[in-house]
Amino acid sequence: MAEIRVHNLLKRFGAFIAVKGVSLTVADGDFFVLLGPSGCGKTTTLRMIAGLEIPTEGEIRVGGEDVTFRRAAQRDIAFVFQLFALYPHMNVRDNLLFPLKAQGVARRERQARLAEVARLLRIDQILRRPVGGLSSGDRQRVALGRAIIRRPKAFLMDEPLGALDTEFRELMAEELRALHDRIAATTVYVTHDQTEAMAMATRIAVMDRGNVLQVGTPAEIYERPATRFVAGFVGTPVMNFLPVRLPVAAGTRRVVIDGAEVTVRPLREVPARGETVLGVRPEHVALADDGPLRGQIYGLEYMGARQIVTVETAAGHVKVRVPAGERLRIGENVGLRPDPSRAHLFDAATERALVMGNADG
Ligand code: ATP
Repeated sequence: MAEIRVHNLLKRFGAFIAVKGVSLTVADGDFFVLLGPSGCGKTTTLRMIAGLEIPTEGEIRVGGEDVTFRRAAQRDIAFVFQLFALYPHMNVRDNLLFPLKAQGVARRERQARLAEVARLLRIDQILRRPVGGLSSGDRQRVALGRAIIRRPKAFLMDEPLGALDTEFRELMAEELRALHDRIAATTVYVTHDQTEAMAMATRIAVMDRGNVLQVGTPAEIYERPATRFVAGFVGTPVMNFLPVRLPVAAGTRRVVIDGAEVTVRPLREVPARGETVLGVRPEHVALADDGPLRGQIYGLEYMGARQIVTVETAAGHVKVRVPAGERLRIGENVGLRPDPSRAHLFDAATERALVMGNADG
């Protein structure tokens, strides 16, 4: 397996720039997810890494080698398009062996790899079965096996679970990640689904409009989002954003939202135009009688162990996550207190997260 490095990758389609100078390093063994909304350029980035699209500018290295202008077949990377794409007239064994025969791998080596993949994916029992009659889970495993058996330097996957229903999707996501951990295969995985990305990735690159906004572990992306877009794209329900009315000064520990003073971590920089937006996740807002923000309960969503409370405040709707047992009713007046150590301030003009100190300093 190998490291993948892309440097200043740019892709133009006519006058439109789909990927605007992306640089990324996918470490050997990473499960690296390209995450972003539809049209942000993730598929185009992946296709350039695969060799299916030629970059307008930039460089791609796999295992140290410059492959920017090499054809897909010469890159030794397995692109798993659609995990269901199998040859229907062949049995499992022949489907698995097909890529090796195409590569001219010797018979003994083919048998050894077949045995290894069958054991890894737990499909030893079904090798002689026609793929037509297999359950969708087994089909998916066979398709994965066909990619693994080649022993490529890396795997590329573009929404491979997109066509599956929710339950099966979760199951396959778990299997894919477990398989990745067993064979430590460098993987680049494209999805627009943030839950899937958070659950599967070792590292995530969040993309928007052709740019990479942030690269980090799921926890880094969730806890220290670099921009308002990243903060809003990851997490359900989404982060609350409240406009701060008065300009803020460096070192401040209070911001004014709708006339109320809300405590935050000390601000270490001042935004150019002084305007900021406070961002806080629903699980980091407490319902508190003496909370600085006031509002009325507008909605209650029961979610099993938790409930999501929507509070109408003068600064807009604020979602709060509380234990399901808490008795609340629509229309009730409540106070809200954002957790000072978990609230973020974003520059309202640039949307960048502002540097803040620790809660205690
Ligand atoms: P999706 O999940 O919808 O595929 P994406 O993030 O993968 O989104 P891309 O498929 O990379 O996005 O597309 C990025 C942008 O480039 C889109 O606006 C798309 O319309 C445009 N685009 C992609 N391929 C081409 C092409 N061959 N010709 C012209 N425009 C293209």
